[in-house]
Amino acid sequence: MGITRGQRERGEKPILDDEALYLTDNGACYCGKHCGNMARYTGRDISGQKVSKLTIADVRASIATYKWEPECETCGRKLNLIEVVK
Ligand SMILES: [Zn+2]
Repeated sequence: MGITRGQRERGEKPILDDEALYLTDNGACYCGKHCGNMARYTGRDISGQKVSKLTIADVRASIATYKWEPECETCGRKLNLIEVVK
């Protein structure tokens, strides 16, 4: 992503994508903006667990399996399921 390890450790730039959705270890779902600063800058939540980025395939699987479309618990952001065809 063009950010060096040193920059990341100093927390200069968020490493999470604001537009993406992330699942935390306890199953909560947040967009990059609302993941919490710890996760935004380190990729790990305050308990030290890695947050995992949801892919479009993950979201589709969740809808198919659980009838639940993941969304940010703070702002309600959902992943854009329309894939860009290149
Ligand atoms: Zn959000």
